[in-house]
Order: sequence, then structure tokens, then C-alpha cells
Amino acid sequence: MNGLLPWHTAQWQTLTRRLRDNILPHALLVNGPPGVGKNHFASLFAHSALCENTPADGLPCGTCRGCLLNQAGTHPDYKRVSPLEEKKIIGVDQVREIGEYFSLKSHYAGYKVVIISPASAMNTQAANSLLKTLEEPPARALLILVTDSAALLPATIRSRCQRIDFTKPPQDLARDWLATRIEPPHDASLLLALADGAPFAALELASGDKIGQRMAMFTDFETLFQGHASPVAIAGTWLKFELKETLYWVRGWITDMIRIKSAVHPPALANQDIQQRLQVMASMLDLRTLHRQLDRISEAARLASGQINGQLLLEDLLIGWKDILSRQARKKDS
Ligand SMILES: [Zn+2]
Repeated sequence: MNGLLPWHTAQWQTLTRRLRDNILPHALLVNGPPGVGKNHFASLFAHSALCENTPADGLPCGTCRGCLLNQAGTHPDYKRVSPLEEKKIIGVDQVREIGEYFSLKSHYAGYKVVIISPASAMNTQAANSLLKTLEEPPARALLILVTDSAALLPATIRSRCQRIDFTKPPQDLARDWLATRIEPPHDASLLLALADGAPFAALELASGDKIGQRMAMFTDFETLFQGHASPVAIAGTWLKFELKETLYWVRGWITDMIRIKSAVHPPALANQDIQQRLQVMASMLDLRTLHRQLDRISEAARLASGQINGQLLLEDLLIGWKDILSRQARKKDS
């Protein structure tokens, strides 16, 4: 995917004007909800800063030495820092390397660009180390921090960066963009609803068999609801999928059931394609129970971002769910 996204135009114009006028700050903080293309924006802008004959629209020309090196992923003045494989944090050693990297002269007398993404993955030590770089930035250094939540970064870092905020695009714009990038049976409206309006997250859902997996999982969930399945067996099946994603789906079903219970008019659901099935489940549960389940899912999602036994976490969640259902069923019978 190349080029500027239609909902990034304003931010793009602001920054490329500064680049052209040579008044670009040393550090940018690219902030906004997940799935709106912040990383895409950051790398496109980095390529633009490294392009040797940037055209008037500020987009990288695609043919100069800088652009060719970037396309090959081998530009010596461009670096991207993310959590190392299997780790969830960006450590102090990685950030120290950035300081050393910036202290070397750029290869082609232009900018040296480093993207840190997600910046909130830096631990305290790493953030402190970055502060030194931010306090005395070398000339022609450009640091781009990407984050879903600027509030998670220390104020000392935030205050030294120019913030570039992104929001979710208007629905029509997002749907048109997405529709040209997916194939049937995928449906742009459903994918966007499932991704809470975030187009990149919606596109990601169309990759692989995520939607098929979701349907299989929902059927398991229903079976559990009807009392015909073992939570432990289901946990075992679900463990094959990514834990974060699994929790996202379950959270979405419960949230939609809360919407169904709370709405006066037919509610706009994320899970539009299984609305009726959710309605059946919701009719068996009370709002308080659903809110309690939502809390449990949130807590599980928090735990899942650390080191955790996924099987146990899912079992605990599903056993709890089954208990509630049988209690509610008894209440109904009595
Ligand atoms: Zn170029």
C-alpha cells in the first residue's frame, strides 16, 4: 500500500509544508486510535524526508537514490524501532542505540530518521534514556514516535514532541477506501463495524480467515450458552487463535448484547451479521450480569498483555460464563 490516505491529508500538508520550509521539529508524536494508519503515515513521511527531490505534493518521488533505498528497506539513514520478537517492550538498549545512531553523520547529508512504534512499549528506563536524545537532538535528526495513546507516555517526552493527532475517518470515506481493497464475501460495512470504524484494523480483519474463525468461535460460545459444551474443551480450541483477538471478539459480543438490552430503538451493532443470535442470548441475561462479564473481559485483556497462561485464562473466563448461564437458567425455571 503506497501513497497518502484520504483521511490523512490535513496532517500531511502541515508537516510537508514544514519540511519544505526547513522548520521541521526534531520530534513528532503521531497519536490516534488503533487501526487508522498511523504507522503508514509515519513511514510515508519518513520516506518523504529522505527523498532527494521531493515533488510539490510532498510525496516521495519513488525514483531517487533515497526512495530506491527505502523501497529496498536498506536506507542507512532510516531506522525503525519496535519491541524485539517475543518481547512486548522496547528496552533501554534499543533506545541507547538510537542515541548512538543519531550521533553518526547521515550518509547522504540529509535527515536521519528513526520511528519508534509503539512508543508506549518503552519501559521507564528506555523512556528516560530517550529523554536525553530529545533534550539535545542532533541537527537533521528526526524522531517519530507512534502511539495509540499519548497519555501513556511520560509528560516529559510528550512536551518535547510536536503532536500530530489522528481520528477515525468519516464512515463513507473509510468504506470507499476499504471496498476497493477487499474481495467478496467480505463486506466493507461489516468489517468496519467490527473494527469500530478503524479502516486499517478492518482491512486486517479481511486477511487470512479471521472472520471465519470468529463465526466458529461464536458457534462455540452459543453451544456453551445452551449448556452443551465443556468450557475446557472450548478454551483448548480457542487457544489456537491469537488471545488478544479472541478476547476482542468475546468483548464485542457482550458489548452488543448490552446495546441490545439498553436500546429503545434497534441498536447499531458491531456484530451486525449475528444480530438475531445475539438477541436470543441477550434475552436470557440481565444487564448487570452482562456488565460484570464485560469487566471480566477487560481484566482478562489487561492480563493478556503480560506473560500469562492463555489456556487457564480462557478456561477461567468460560467456566465463569457457563456458571452464570446455568444460574440464570435456574432463575428462569423457578
Ligand atoms: Zn525520491
